[in-house]
Amino acid sequence: MARKDPLHFLNVPRQMPRTKPASLRIQEFREITGQYDRDQAAEQAARCIDCGNPYCEWECPVHNYIPHWLRLIEDGRLFEAAELSHKTNSLPEMCGRICPQDRLCEGACTLNDGYGAVTIGSIEKYITDEAFRQGWRPTVDAEPSGKRVAVIGAGPAGLACADVLIRHGVQPVVFDRYSEIGGLLTFGIPPFKLEKEVVRTRRAIMEEMGVQFVLNTEIGRDVSLDKLVEDHDAVFMGMGTYQAVTGGFPGEELPNVHPALDYLIGNIRNVEGWSQEGSGFIDLKDKRVVVLGAGDTAMDCNRTAIRHGATSVTCVHRRGEGQLRGSRKEYKNAREEGVKFLFNRQPVAIVEEDGRATGVKFMRTRLATAEDGRTRIEAVEGSEEIIEADAVVVAFGFRPDPADWFRDHRITLHEDGRVLAGPHGPYAMQTSNPNIFAGGDMVRGADLVVTAVYEGRQAAMGIIDYLGLGAIELPGQQVN
Ligand code: FAD
Ligand code: SF4
Repeated sequence: MARKDPLHFLNVPRQMPRTKPASLRIQEFREITGQYDRDQAAEQAARCIDCGNPYCEWECPVHNYIPHWLRLIEDGRLFEAAELSHKTNSLPEMCGRICPQDRLCEGACTLNDGYGAVTIGSIEKYITDEAFRQGWRPTVDAEPSGKRVAVIGAGPAGLACADVLIRHGVQPVVFDRYSEIGGLLTFGIPPFKLEKEVVRTRRAIMEEMGVQFVLNTEIGRDVSLDKLVEDHDAVFMGMGTYQAVTGGFPGEELPNVHPALDYLIGNIRNVEGWSQEGSGFIDLKDKRVVVLGAGDTAMDCNRTAIRHGATSVTCVHRRGEGQLRGSRKEYKNAREEGVKFLFNRQPVAIVEEDGRATGVKFMRTRLATAEDGRTRIEAVEGSEEIIEADAVVVAFGFRPDPADWFRDHRITLHEDGRVLAGPHGPYAMQTSNPNIFAGGDMVRGADLVVTAVYEGRQAAMGIIDYLGLGAIELPGQQVN
């Protein structure tokens, strides 16, 4: 698959789609990056040198056929690129927007060594957005098998599972406790990273494909798992991880100390006008905000607070700048938008006055080598300092929160509460209850959209085999 001009990358620099200047983007909750037109997409796709060792494919958790669809875009064959892109990824338009490409496909691109990686994520987004706009739809041509599978959770894992099932003649029925599909894509990730219209479009397309959604329905409360097992041939669980990690220091219960997800969900409901659901909007206008944590969730809180008109937003991390857990792209965006970062500081208490937080007490940290030779972070004696705050947002991440009813259904857990399921059992992603499969954050721990998609797809493959419909191999993915 030789490129038309293998040295094209020397003449054409890496160019992202137009990105709004920070001064404009902080005034709205809209995506900050625009879209390529046909020529720009083709020109950027043609920068791929087809290096013969597609590290990008290997670093991409769903093993997208990246050089192949880049070549199709270079040749203007949009619908073929969309078809190929959907062979390995059920939500390419989401991943193209919010994958941490710098750590995955683009980080592994051969051109990332001084020439600027191919803009893989932006081209992936372009392919699906533009193909949908022009009327292309994913192919569903399998004969119905008469089998039905209940999918608990309409997040990336559940949607990916449903996508593969319906394309193989199995009827998925997707249950979610929320009123919209998407899981954290809808009720977590802010619209400046992913506008909710993108999720609505995907929902319409999945419904056209035949996927059934039963929303506002919590399994274990409104419908029992027994009932789902009775009415379906198998069950897939993609329920995420929702127990917020706390710092364990005094003052976290104060009314102006907010868990990250409460803050983000309240904002999304407000922006989308879903106030009938009890908005829970937390207004940080004119407040000095301190955000604790430095992963993707913390960056989203920082940037949301900036858009709310906070007087100042200070993000504090116990490690150094080089040890950020989230995407560098989001860190850069946050800095550009005016977030101030303080590194190597560990919160030890929320400072309280008259029942409200007025600041956070920190100690400085440094790296130390323990007797066993390992490095660890230690607090520096006598280094306490207080940073004043009118509101504090806690974004330390999420732990699994297994439901009580898992035990009744013989679903084995890891010690930390994650559901035990994996690609290597007799059937991919099967739990210790043969009829029940699981994937995504509830199996991996809080991770990424693309890894949840991968596991949802793997589970569908396991379910199809388990139902006796024949072993299928998903292109681009290997079970072993
Ligand atoms: P979820 O997306 O959590 O979906 C689970 C679904 O199950 C939810 O809709 C929930 O309502 C439903 N559910 C749970 N229990 C029940 C029940 N009993 N009955 C019915 N329904 C139920 N990843 C990235 O790749 N890039 C990012 O930029 C990024 N940013 C993030 C920002 C934030 C604020 C957060 C919190 C996460 C972010 N992530 C990001 C991580 C990513 O969103 C998750 O890894 C991914 O959504 C996990 O998918 P999932 O399907 O396993 O779970
Ligand atoms: Fe890159 Fe994510 Fe797309 Fe894979 S799914 S090619 S990692 S943006």
